[in-house]
Amino acid sequence: MITYSIGLKNKFRGITLREGMVFEGPAGWAEWSPFLDYDDATCVSWLRAAREAAVHGWPAPVRDVVPVNCTVPAVGPSKAAEIVRASGCGTAKVKVAEPGQTLADDLERVEAVRDAIGAGRVRIDANGAWSVDEAVKSLKELARFDLEYVEQPCAAVEDLAAVRRRTDVPVAADESIRRAEDPLLVKKLEAADIAVLKVQPIGGVRACLEIAEQIGLPVVVSSALETSVGIAAGVALAAALPDLPYACGLATVSMFTSEVVAEPLLPVDGFLPVRRVQPDPALLAAARADETRTALWEERMTRVQKRSAG
Ligand SMILES: [Mg+2]
Repeated sequence: MITYSIGLKNKFRGITLREGMVFEGPAGWAEWSPFLDYDDATCVSWLRAAREAAVHGWPAPVRDVVPVNCTVPAVGPSKAAEIVRASGCGTAKVKVAEPGQTLADDLERVEAVRDAIGAGRVRIDANGAWSVDEAVKSLKELARFDLEYVEQPCAAVEDLAAVRRRTDVPVAADESIRRAEDPLLVKKLEAADIAVLKVQPIGGVRACLEIAEQIGLPVVVSSALETSVGIAAGVALAAALPDLPYACGLATVSMFTSEVVAEPLLPVDGFLPVRRVQPDPALLAAARADETRTALWEERMTRVQKRSAG
């Protein structure tokens, strides 16, 4: 197992360095990279996903490319338009309700993205930051930019359900599925129109396919900010879903300052190819974490392995 430590071009979730482990099994390379603020119990499903990749491999794909969206962080309108144009993607996801941002800022940014993408699709992600009333009020204004959907407008599933009843904008559930004790509560409460699934937090491609079937909603596959080794698992899920009506949030490798794979999973004209990847020895060596970080990750892995065996 090799611990990597790679810089991020911009601060994300408060971090500037992404760390994790990659290792090879009989079925191929796997990534285990739970964020450092996650406790050991949470990391068990992340390990299940890595074991699947290394030991069992993934179900057969039903498509050979996967459409992906570009992501627009809380930047000004001209920068936002530039990101969209440079990406070549036909779908843009715009972050809204970010700390320090007003509704006026969000409106300006979404408008710039709508203009830049033309007939393409625009979705927004509030990461659970709004109250029900704030969400309804904001969506009333933002809806004029023809939104594909709003992702996680509020934190609580009950609040998602309430917003969904008060807006015409479709609602996608993200944190409400991957961080919930019962991911199917979204279905029971009719809280969402779309399910966002991430392979590592949910515990593997097959675990995600099972949830997709049970939840009965169209799925958008997103990354957990992995190297191309981890992204390949997300691509495998997107490739194995019977239907894929929306672009996926898997174009995140470009947020890294370097990679472990010589041909990273970067989109071409808005699509990722469906393939497994293999780290390049020189890039892997360059990304290797120092001894202290490696020891920390190895200890973490040992604890989580014990927990998952028990
Ligand atoms: Mg999200």
